[in-house]
Amino acid sequence: MRYADVVLPVPLSELFTYALPASLQSEVQAGCRVLVPFGAKATATALVLRVLDHKPEGIATKEVLDVLDTTPVVLPAQIKFWQWLASYYLCTLGEVYKAALPGMMKKRPTPNPSLVRRGVGCLEDKNLSILSVTAPLPIREGVGGGYSLSPAQSSALADIKAQWHQHPVCLLHGVTSSGKTEIYIRLIQEAIARGEQVLYLLPEIVLTTQLTERLRRVFGAALGVYHSKYSDKQRAEVWHRQCSSQPYPLIVGVRSSIFLPFLRLGLVIIDEEHENSFKQQEPAPRYHARDAAIMLAAQNKALTLLGTATPSFESYYNARMGKYGFVSLTERFGQVQLPEVEVVDVAEARRKKLMSGAFSPRLLAAVRQALDTHHQVILFQNRRGYAPVIECPVCGWTPRCPHCSVALTLHKRSRKMVCHYCGYTTAIPALCPACESDALRQSGFGTERIEDEIAALFPDARVARMDLDTTRTRSAYERLILDFQEHRTDILVGTQMVSKGLDFEHVSLVGILSAETMLNQPDFRAYERAFQMMAQVAGRAGRRDERGLVILQTRNADLPLIHQVIHNDYESMYRTQMEERRQFAYPPFVRMVVMYVKHRHLSVAEMLARDAAERLKRLFGTRVLGPDEPAVSRISSLYIRRIIIKLELSLPMAKAKQLLRQTADALMSEKAYSSAQIYFDVDPL
Ligand code: ADP
Ligand code: ZN
Ligand code: ZN
Repeated sequence: MRYADVVLPVPLSELFTYALPASLQSEVQAGCRVLVPFGAKATATALVLRVLDHKPEGIATKEVLDVLDTTPVVLPAQIKFWQWLASYYLCTLGEVYKAALPGMMKKRPTPNPSLVRRGVGCLEDKNLSILSVTAPLPIREGVGGGYSLSPAQSSALADIKAQWHQHPVCLLHGVTSSGKTEIYIRLIQEAIARGEQVLYLLPEIVLTTQLTERLRRVFGAALGVYHSKYSDKQRAEVWHRQCSSQPYPLIVGVRSSIFLPFLRLGLVIIDEEHENSFKQQEPAPRYHARDAAIMLAAQNKALTLLGTATPSFESYYNARMGKYGFVSLTERFGQVQLPEVEVVDVAEARRKKLMSGAFSPRLLAAVRQALDTHHQVILFQNRRGYAPVIECPVCGWTPRCPHCSVALTLHKRSRKMVCHYCGYTTAIPALCPACESDALRQSGFGTERIEDEIAALFPDARVARMDLDTTRTRSAYERLILDFQEHRTDILVGTQMVSKGLDFEHVSLVGILSAETMLNQPDFRAYERAFQMMAQVAGRAGRRDERGLVILQTRNADLPLIHQVIHNDYESMYRTQMEERRQFAYPPFVRMVVMYVKHRHLSVAEMLARDAAERLKRLFGTRVLGPDEPAVSRISSLYIRRIIIKLELSLPMAKAKQLLRQTADALMSEKAYSSAQIYFDVDPL
């Protein structure tokens, strides 16, 4: 009899051993999926980690029911990478497995498992046009986007290659519209010509048709796209292709593409490396795809290029410390100037009663001028919905979510009050339930309200809105982008979504409605983020011939950060902020791990948090802060407390993490906490 150690897609840290019935023995190898009995009645799709010749001692084993793959769908190198993820991000291998495989590859194959065995059953889908190619086409040698590189691009390209001789990871700091994508294209072509595979990683919302079309023109069928908005079938098809004899030479994908099989990965490009959406917040593994991809590249002896106009402090710090190579591109392609940033002091405009709602006279004049000269406008407001708060002017009552500790946002289109944390909705109140006043006041501006008001002020303009609510489907999202690109929309109102790597020709004006929505965040990264967001959205203006204009409305016109945005002075923003980080011991000067505890009852959450903090303090002393309440301290009816652990860089991290894990395990094994949740967020954002 032979046996198999398997991992199941569940948050348990152990592996499970099953017996292999004689009929299946010859077929099963490490990396194949098997169907196993699990729990009282259920079955689960498990992944074989190794096949054993002897029965492990002291274990009663059930039998494997069926084998789903005759050749491995997960490679040994992937298992090694997943093990690193589980240990670094303090989660289980089962959780990594669950996150890694497309849903249908973990489901019980019904009705006919043999279809899955042959890796088909995924090909009937008509929408698969771009994925259904079976043989990679030859790459057109030396053809970039049809373009030849500018001298600045050529020298950056040469510099990157030179840096790679000393550092396997290189950071490319290139201002917006400096032509970074063209440089990536060259590097990808060269890697493919060497017979290597390339992973080009992008944040979810930057991965648009705009970019994939641009890459498809160059790479044709060599390009595979891996996107979470693609169907599960399509993703499973890419996965199977990756472990076939004809894998895609180039994968362009979102964060989850780090889980794909690669046989000969040679280059990893991480575009917009500063983007926070590379971090998975929920559920585990709470990994940062940039950091994980750097490890993936290292394990495969591949090179890594990080690209951005606004580097994360982590990457910039690593570059300055000589850990990463560094290359900068300071001019825009075609020598177009960076946009002019004009600050409007809204505090003053308000005092003088000059504001029309959220708009200053200067912004409205600039919009008028842009429209009159047939240009397009982007208006950026980092809040969705109509009004963030409604309030009773008589008694101060505000509608709040019954399940979370936040106010409900008014959504006028859907005629609802919505909780942005748990999705709870309720009717818009006509009267204050506390004092029956009917004078409820809407305060603050969300994108819906900006859209309504700008449309009323410019009835001749075609206005559209891009935020989470208008982009629930990929087609809706791409429609908005296409309409704007083809100038069927004059004014695009949006949240940070409009700042993400889009390349529009006719945008002459970007309006930032309120810097405060970004500055007033209770977070040590608030200014870094505010700078990134403003610089990125500003970067959408004037990308072709004429210099663009940015109108930046703020109540803090004198803030040094605002001046740094005006001058696109990343360097001095970095220096000022890093000084504070050093002083108050924040990353990248320390490593942060946050322990979260959650429970339905406040008293249990608090008791557990105190208990956990005490135990951690015994191990880590003053490195442990808290427990405290996070800014939103109750979500979906669970009370949340957190404990922050700051570890100096010199500490042996593996040992520290082991202690953290043991503490959590010990707490979870106590009866009083059996219905609580404890988890860690490593390198939180
Ligand atoms: P970034 O990624 O740095 O923001 P892009 O790569 O999107 O910049 O380039 C900005 C614009 O300039 C794009 O429209 C691109 O097509 C164009 N461009 C970049 N490099 C070249 C080149 N070498 N020849 C012609 N056009 C270029
Ligand atoms: Zn009232
Ligand atoms: Zn809620």
